[in-house]
Amino acid sequence: MDNYDYDLFVIGAGSGGVRAARVSASLGAKVAVAEERYLGGTCVNVGCVPKKLFVYGAHFVEDFEDATAYGWETGDAEFHWPTLRDNKTREIERLNGVYNGLLTDAGVEILAERAVLTGPHSIRVGHATVTARNILIATGSWPVVPTFPGSDLAITSNEAFYLPEFPRRALIIGGGYIAVEFAGIFAGLGAEVTLAYRGELFLRGFDAGIRRFVLEEMAAKGVSVRLMTRVESVESVRGGLRCRFDDAASLDVDLVMAATGRAPASANLELDAAGVEVAPNGAIPVDHGYRTNVRHIYAVGDVIDRLQLTPVAIAEGTCVAHNLFADETRCVDYDNVPTAIFCQPNIGTVGPTEERARELYPELAVYESSFKPMKHTVSGRSERTLMKLLVNAEDDRVVAAHMCGPEAGEIIQGLSVAIKAGATKADFDSTIGIHPTAAEEFVTMREAAR
Ligand code: NDP
Repeated sequence: MDNYDYDLFVIGAGSGGVRAARVSASLGAKVAVAEERYLGGTCVNVGCVPKKLFVYGAHFVEDFEDATAYGWETGDAEFHWPTLRDNKTREIERLNGVYNGLLTDAGVEILAERAVLTGPHSIRVGHATVTARNILIATGSWPVVPTFPGSDLAITSNEAFYLPEFPRRALIIGGGYIAVEFAGIFAGLGAEVTLAYRGELFLRGFDAGIRRFVLEEMAAKGVSVRLMTRVESVESVRGGLRCRFDDAASLDVDLVMAATGRAPASANLELDAAGVEVAPNGAIPVDHGYRTNVRHIYAVGDVIDRLQLTPVAIAEGTCVAHNLFADETRCVDYDNVPTAIFCQPNIGTVGPTEERARELYPELAVYESSFKPMKHTVSGRSERTLMKLLVNAEDDRVVAAHMCGPEAGEIIQGLSVAIKAGATKADFDSTIGIHPTAAEEFVTMREAAR
């Protein structure tokens, strides 16, 4: 009865699925992964990787402007969208090949087909039915578009990476990671951008000081931000799309992009056939070892809807592989997960917001510094950087670091190790700075702001 085709069958070759498949195979398991769309999932194809390439592309406009003060005559720079789009696509195709190689070299069988469950241990993949002792669901998430008249005219981030033409005027709906990142991308590449967010201040869940700072910087870069605004309708008009807002105002644009969240992609997997439970929002509930209610069926990544972040999915996939095939009992530590938003300037953050930290640590000391980056003393650009360190004064531990400024993600990654290791403010203070950098500010803030 133990004669299964595979020790592990993975549905979905995104960040979590690929990692679990590769590690499991390297630990000696017989593994297959089914992927109907593209190897590497959202991150590689329509997420982190192409987004970051676009962010690089969008920054050049300021680099050209800044260069003049440094003595460079750059002439009239012109942006050519098809070049960026197609060079990006070539890089993504290269990465698809790399993922193929990583899986096959590890001995994982790749099935480029849609897979659905037909029973607790059986999967229909294409026209074949196979069996597996263990199954991992790593199908990720998919963009959600709110329903309003004309909402079908809105694109999502999926399409933004392949636009046939670059828009002259763009409206972005939403106020999360994707909305603010694409506002920066489209604006940097030369579009007139409006961002419409339904609440009082975008980036809900992030530190309020950082959110206000980003709003100011974004406005200074020419993005028109409409807060407390809902889009009521979009219609095609001569030469573009007409959007109507709930305050009766309207705006004509060439492109409307909904960046209004991503839902777990659990529908159409026929999970019922195996008895796997699904939450009302589509998330698959799992225990600390990523087991669903069916003990040999696991789920990781966006489909479990804990933290929709690539490195988190990778960590979860690694856990599943080790627990299954190396007899370990690993689980992911979700405390102090650092994250970056590649808006312009970037946000990097680790630990609780100031608001949350006040609840957790009654004796909170907040260190804060806002300054003009050295580069702009000469370039004359008005852009500023904001840094915050939150310290639990009771035991001197640094509990959070937040930053908005160039390379914030790069800087906060290093600090997150210190914070995870329990570093105190005294440790920060006794660390010698690297001069002249922006990052040294994190070890030279001496007076608490509050
Ligand atoms: P988010 O969940 O980050 O943000 C969704 C935004 O859309 C919120 O501002 C939300 O408003 C708004 N919204 C939701 N529903 C509606 C609606 N019906 N009408 C109007 N506005 C609405 O989702 P994203 O799509 O930006 O990104 C999805 C996930 O992908 C992120 O949560 C993140 O985990 C991941 N990601 C990570 C990146 C990174 O690491 N740099 C980059 C991009 C994505 P409200 O705040 O009021 O709920």
